Amino acid sequence: MRAEIISVGTELLLGQITDTNAVALSQSLSKIGVNLYRRTTVGDNHARLLAALRSALADNDVVITIGGLGPTEDDITRDTLAEAIGDTLRRDDAIAAKLTEFFQSRNVPMTESNLRQAMVPSHGRPLDNPNGTAPGLLFEKDGKIAISLPGPPGEFLPMLQNHVIPYLSAKTGGRRTIRSRVVRVCGIGEGLAEDRIRPLLRDEKVTVAPYAKTGEVHFRVSCLTDDPDEADRLIDERIARMRELLGDHIYGFDEETLEQVVVRTLMERRLSIATAESCTGGMLAMRITSVPGSSAVFPGAVVTYSNRIKNELLGVSEDILARVGAVSREVAEDMAKAARERFHVDYGIGITGIAGPDGGTPEKPVGLVWIAVADSGGVVAERNQYLGIRHEVRYRSTQTALTMLRDRLAQKAIKPTTDG
Ligand code: ATP
Ligand code: MG
Repeated sequence: MRAEIISVGTELLLGQITDTNAVALSQSLSKIGVNLYRRTTVGDNHARLLAALRSALADNDVVITIGGLGPTEDDITRDTLAEAIGDTLRRDDAIAAKLTEFFQSRNVPMTESNLRQAMVPSHGRPLDNPNGTAPGLLFEKDGKIAISLPGPPGEFLPMLQNHVIPYLSAKTGGRRTIRSRVVRVCGIGEGLAEDRIRPLLRDEKVTVAPYAKTGEVHFRVSCLTDDPDEADRLIDERIARMRELLGDHIYGFDEETLEQVVVRTLMERRLSIATAESCTGGMLAMRITSVPGSSAVFPGAVVTYSNRIKNELLGVSEDILARVGAVSREVAEDMAKAARERFHVDYGIGITGIAGPDGGTPEKPVGLVWIAVADSGGVVAERNQYLGIRHEVRYRSTQTALTMLRDRLAQKAIKPTTDG
């Protein structure tokens, strides 16, 4: 079964609201195995909506519209959809009576335009909307299905769960469904990661699709199936193969974040960490402390933005700062060592770089970030040259720092310097 979503509303095109309804709908459709062919957004314009609906009905078995079912002049979905599918609307007396009662009970005068919400398909039926005045509409005409739901999420989402999903599941036999897992990968670029798992990309039964995220790559491993157990088994097999091909680059699954994995490992091994941050301004500390329970492994952090504070709080020597500059291996290493010593932790992290957009030089361009990790065995530093805007440079820096820490944790089980 092939479907298209049409979101209706000029405010969507203007970027004033985000199409969260279409996202929720897409997720629900994929779970019941409906193949989403296209998603379209159209303004409140009759001619353009009609064209989009006609094209959608020609290409798909099911078309689902979002929004434009209200009583106002710009709410044109109901009439335009009837026109596109070739159906007429009839007044539903029960709904008209309910609307009349609704307005009377609130002492608000009802206008003729309010009664447009009582117009329902001649070939099809209304869909009950307990949270608003506009019912949804279900058209079934000439082998095509069109479903129209109101825009406010408080009305849309319950109707999606209570009407649309059960109805479409029954149509698809209620059996075909998509099972999927997300494999999360760090410390390797998208191209290289994809290259390594290339043998899995041509699989007929299980789809492995890469998604590049900032500083990491996700692979969605999914299987369209009649038999969920079989699908889970196939997905597990592919993930085992990915482990062989990607090794330690796989850090987690599904919703698990890199900071969660790192904090969990520190907790399990009773190790601790502190950060000294310059260009990231505490973003690494923020990510670490976003994990519940992180206080067990993280006593604190310092943001040392200026040279003076790097010197005064961390003891980075003025001489080094003057000689090699704040963005250097030496300073990153000294920051990491000072964080480790002053906070009495097992791991200290130092980050210093140029986030941009200004402040770059030919020798030290924007995006240059030195990151160091100090532990009882000494200190390692990495020079990174990131692409991207300021936020991206900063986020990638924290991503690299967490990846470096994860690597250090994997390399050796150092003896804790602190206990409990
Ligand atoms: P109403 O009776 O409230 O006019 P409607 O069905 O006509 O409902 P719209 O007028 O298109 O819906 O949108 C009403 C409100 O619902 C919007 O202002 C917005 O807040 C929200 N909304 C509309 N479409 C979406 C969407 N696709 N995703 C999330 N929210 C939406
Ligand atoms: Mg409206």
